Amino acid sequence: MRTYFGENYDVIIIGAGHAGVEAALACARLGKKTMMLTLNLDGIALMACNPSIGGTAKGHLVREIDALGGEMGIAADETFLQIKMLNSSKGPAVHSLRAQIDKRRYHEYMKSVLEHTKNLSIKQDEAIRIISENGKVTGVQTACGAILGAKAVILATGVYLKSRVIIGEFAQEAGPSGLMGAYGLSASLLENGFTLQRFKTGTPARVDARSLDFSKMEPQYGDKKIVPFSFMHEKIEREQIPCWLTYTNEKTHEIIRNNIDRSPLYSGVIHGTGPRYCPSIEDKVVKFPDKERHQLFIEPEGAGTLEMYVQGMSSSLPEEVQIQLYRTVPGMENVRFMRTAYAIEYDCIDPTQLRSSFESKHIAGLFMAGQINGSSGYEEAAAQGLLAGINAVQYLRGEEPVILGRDMAYIGVLADDLVTKGTREPYRMMTSRAEYRLILRQDNADERLTEIGHRIGLVSDERYSRYMKKQEEIAKEIERLSKTNVKATPAFNEYLKSIGESAISESVSMAELLRRPAIGIEELEHFTEASPYSDEVKEAAQIAIKYEGYIKKQQQQVERFRELENKRLRDDIDYMAISGLRIEARQKLSQMKPENLGQASRISGVSPSDIAVLMIYLKSGK
Ligand SMILES: Cc1cc2nc3c(=O)[nH]c(=O)nc-3n(C[C@H](O)[C@H](O)[C@H](O)COP(=O)(O)OP(=O)(O)OC[C@H]3O[C@@H](n4cnc5c(N)ncnc54)[C@H](O)[C@@H]3O)c2cc1C
Repeated sequence: MRTYFGENYDVIIIGAGHAGVEAALACARLGKKTMMLTLNLDGIALMACNPSIGGTAKGHLVREIDALGGEMGIAADETFLQIKMLNSSKGPAVHSLRAQIDKRRYHEYMKSVLEHTKNLSIKQDEAIRIISENGKVTGVQTACGAILGAKAVILATGVYLKSRVIIGEFAQEAGPSGLMGAYGLSASLLENGFTLQRFKTGTPARVDARSLDFSKMEPQYGDKKIVPFSFMHEKIEREQIPCWLTYTNEKTHEIIRNNIDRSPLYSGVIHGTGPRYCPSIEDKVVKFPDKERHQLFIEPEGAGTLEMYVQGMSSSLPEEVQIQLYRTVPGMENVRFMRTAYAIEYDCIDPTQLRSSFESKHIAGLFMAGQINGSSGYEEAAAQGLLAGINAVQYLRGEEPVILGRDMAYIGVLADDLVTKGTREPYRMMTSRAEYRLILRQDNADERLTEIGHRIGLVSDERYSRYMKKQEEIAKEIERLSKTNVKATPAFNEYLKSIGESAISESVSMAELLRRPAIGIEELEHFTEASPYSDEVKEAAQIAIKYEGYIKKQQQQVERFRELENKRLRDDIDYMAISGLRIEARQKLSQMKPENLGQASRISGVSPSDIAVLMIYLKSGK
C-alpha cells in the first residue's frame, strides 16, 4: 500500500463514539488543532444499544461530564423523549437521572456540534497503524494511505476492533448496527507492546411498534417536574413519551432451555467475556432458574420511528428461536422484528497499562478512552473521553495531568478502578463502587468539578458565574433556614402528628425541623415563608442540613484517604530491591508502577504490611 504524508495535527482522535466525541470537543475547545477519524460519519455518537442515557451511577457520570464542561448532559437534555429521577424515595447519594433518548436526534445533535466546533476536522477513514518513535507517539496511518502527524493520539475505538457479530450459527466480521468493523489496529497495538483482551456484549431485537399490543403492558411515565441533566438548564417543559413494562414467563424460559445447545454463549462459539450486569436473556434463565419471570421494558428508539427496543431481552440465539421466545411475551404475540438481537465480540486493552490520566505507560502522548479500556456504557465512555481529551491537552501544554481522585468524582472511581485493578469483564459503573458516595452525589457535581473545568479553560465564564451564583444562593438559603422559625401552631402540630412526628411547644428553626428525616422543605413552606430560590438550590441546602453529620464523617474518611494518595511514588523505584516487600508485592509494584501510595494499596496482591514497608522506605528518603 503506497502511503502519502497528510497534514499534521496537535491531536488525532480515533473514534467518534461517546468517548471520541467528548475527547475531540475538549481538545478543539481548548485550542488544539484536532482531527477526529471514524469508520462512518453516520455512526457519530451512535447509541448502539439501549436508547437511554443515565441510570443509577451513570446519571452521576453525566452530571460530572457536564460540570467539567463536556457535552453529553446538554445533548441528552436536547434530545430526551422521557426523563426520570431514579431512587428519589431513597437517600440523595443514589438519586440518579435517567432519560429515554431519541437516538437519531442525539446523533444529529452531536454531529452538528462537532461540525461547528473551531479547530476540529472530522474524516471518515480507518486508522490501521499507530506510529511511535523512541517511546513517543508521532502519528497515525489510515486505510486510505495517509500518514497523519500528531503530538498526541487518543484511541476511542469502542466495540469495533476485530469485531464479530454472532446470531446463533451465523457469525460475521462486522461492527454494531450493520456498520463495518476495524481490522488493522489490533495488530498495531500488539506491535506497540499492548496486551489485548477479548470482550463481548449483546443487544436485544428492535421490533415494529405496530406489531405490539400495548393494552397487555403497563405504561411507564417520566417525571412531571423535569430535572435537567445539565447545570446550564434550569427549566425544561416537554411532552414525554411513555415506555412499557411486560414480563417473560415460563413458556419463554422453556424455549430457551430447550435450545440452549444452539446458544453461541453455551456452545463455545463466543469466546469474549460478557458484562455481568447486562446479562443476555439466556444467561438470566440459566443463572436464575427459580425466577418465574424477568422484567422487560419496551422503549421507543425515537419520536420519528416505529422501532422499539426490548430492554432485558438481549440474546444471540438463532433468529428462528428468538422469534419464538419473543412471541411468548404478553403484548408481543404477533411481534415483527426490524433488527434481530445479536452478540458482538471485540478487542480491548488491559487498562492497567494506562496511568490515571489515561495516558499509556509505555508510549508517551498515546491516550485511550471508552470501551477500548474494558468499560461498558455510553456514560462511562464519555467520561473517559473527556478526561483523556483534557489530559492530552495538559500533555501538550507540558502541564500536570488532571487526576480526579476517588473522593472527588465517579469519573475518578472509574479511572482508578480500571487502571489500578484492571477488569476481566466489561466494567459498568455502580454507586456501590464509590466508597465516598454521600459526597459524590449527582446534585453537587458542579461543586466538585466546575472550578477544575474553569481552571483548565473548558468551562465557560457564563457557566462559571452561574455556578458561583448558585453556591452563594445555597449558602444564603442555609442561613435563611437556620434563622427562619416555624411557630408551634395547632395546624403545624396537627401536620407533625399526621406524619408521626412529635409536636413542638415553641418556635423552631426550619433547619432544626429539617434534621427530622420525615420533614421536607416543600412541606415546611406551607407553614412559613416560601424560599426565594430555585428547587435546585433548596434541594442542595436541605441535603447539607439533613446529612450534615454523615457528610462530616465521610469528609474525615476522605482526609485519611488523601494522606496515602498524596504520597507520590516515582516511576523509577526499584521495587525488586526493597527487601521488606513480599515477592508478590515486588512483582506487582514493578509491573504496575503505581503513582502514589494510595494506588499501591489498591493493587491486588499488595498487603497493608507491604504498604507499611513502602512508607518506611519513603521516609528513609532513599
Ligand atoms: C451490541 C452492543 C450492545 C451493547 N450493550 C450495552 C449494554 O448492554 N450496556 C451498556 O452499558 N453498553 C452497551 N453497549 C456499549 C455501548 O455502546 C458502548 O459502551 C459505547 O458506545 C462505547 O463508547 P465508545 O466511545 O467507547 O465506543 P463506540 O461508541 O463503540 O464508538 C467507537 C468509534 O470508533 C470508531 N472506530 C473504531 N475503530 C476505528 C478505526 N480503526 N479507525 C477509525 N475509527 C474507528 C467507530 O467508527 C466509532 O465511531 C453495547 C454496544 C453494542 C455494540
